[in-house]
Amino acid sequence: MLSYWEQASFLQYDHIIIGSGIVGLSAAIEIKDRFPSASVLVLERGLLPTGASSRNAGFACMGSLIELLDKEQYATDEEILGLFDHRKRGLERLRARLGDSNIGYAAHGSYELISTDEEHMLSEMERLNELLMPITQKPAYKLANDKIGQFGFSKDYTKALVENTCEGELNTGKMLRALINYALHKGIEIKTGANVAQYEEDENHVSVHINDTFRNEVLVLQCRSLSICTNAFTKQLLPDADVIPGRGQVLITQPIPGLKFQGVYHFDKGYYYFRELDGRVLLGGGRNLDFEGEATTDFALNESIHIALEQKLRDIIIPGVHFMIEQRWTGIMAFGKTKYPIVKAFSKRVYGAFRMGGMGVALGSETAMQLADMVYGDWG
Ligand SMILES: Cc1cc2nc3c(=O)[nH]c(=O)nc-3n(C[C@H](O)[C@H](O)[C@H](O)COP(=O)(O)OP(=O)(O)OC[C@H]3O[C@@H](n4cnc5c(N)ncnc54)[C@H](O)[C@@H]3O)c2cc1C
Repeated sequence: MLSYWEQASFLQYDHIIIGSGIVGLSAAIEIKDRFPSASVLVLERGLLPTGASSRNAGFACMGSLIELLDKEQYATDEEILGLFDHRKRGLERLRARLGDSNIGYAAHGSYELISTDEEHMLSEMERLNELLMPITQKPAYKLANDKIGQFGFSKDYTKALVENTCEGELNTGKMLRALINYALHKGIEIKTGANVAQYEEDENHVSVHINDTFRNEVLVLQCRSLSICTNAFTKQLLPDADVIPGRGQVLITQPIPGLKFQGVYHFDKGYYYFRELDGRVLLGGGRNLDFEGEATTDFALNESIHIALEQKLRDIIIPGVHFMIEQRWTGIMAFGKTKYPIVKAFSKRVYGAFRMGGMGVALGSETAMQLADMVYGDWG
């Protein structure tokens, strides 16, 4: 049962965004920029953002050489170019908005470990560099084989090392914290513990239904425009959306004295990624070991993938070095038929921006900007 005051002061907004991941928060900021006097509200079902944005590896990535050349992932050169450009612009936008020091951005280097099976693809490096040159203005990829020994990687596995000159790393927690602070500072409201069950639309507004388990009732908020930024969880609100969830698993070691590398690294077509973080190794991936089983929104750990990750640490990344695992977790990504995010008006008042794959850190800000342009185009 609502009070008179609640009814009058808490239920009407101009623009509501569902999801407080990097896309939802950035979309709210972009919408507020375009409608400075409008009321803008972000609804998040968790007490913390509970999808991928607070649980990722913090790579500011554009795509590794072998991944971009993998025809199963990128069908055409146009797709490679389009996505690379989208990521680059997204990352620039994020860094400009929040500032490098606030997001822990650093460029300690980004490298890809090339295995025997992949060595033949190095012959395409120059072609890819040429293709990307209009965007990068410099060769994106170059050989760095002299560093294999220096970093201590397995020479049995690592037949070559390719440096990516465009990538960096950031601190995921700091970045999301900074984005939340930025949104609050702009006067955007954020309500957590607000699980949106459904919405209804009529000529004049959208009604957003939230299960309030504490009060044991359904709250109905109203807005002029609704933006759905729920990534892997979008089918709950848009059942026909082309979104397949993909669970990603991560582990982090205890600090390893004398760790020989810094920066971020990929191998096996980007299906594995690792980085140095506070003197530890953070390692994630392995979804390709069980694509079907990992197509889930369940955050549970997959023990067989964990064992495989530990094996990669032992065999490839820090062979001969003693390590202890300190923590592991999962996050849920969203995939679909192509690697492009979906940014779309689903009706007169309902918009969506989702399906960021494994690259939302870079893609997110640009995608949010496209969404806000759409909302502004219709309602500005
Ligand atoms: C393990 C892992 C490692 C990754 N590493 C990297 C990386 O290094 N670099 C990179 O660029 N990308 C990485 N990614 C991908 C990146 O994190 C995502 O692409 C990005 O965070 C997606 O952001 P988003 O805002 O679209 O979605 P999310 O962060 O998932 O946000 C969606 C939000 O919507 C909320 N929500 C869902 N349904 C509802 C509802 N009904 N009502 C209210 N709220 C709802 C969720 O709780 C969630 O907080 C990784 C992902 C994972 C899982």
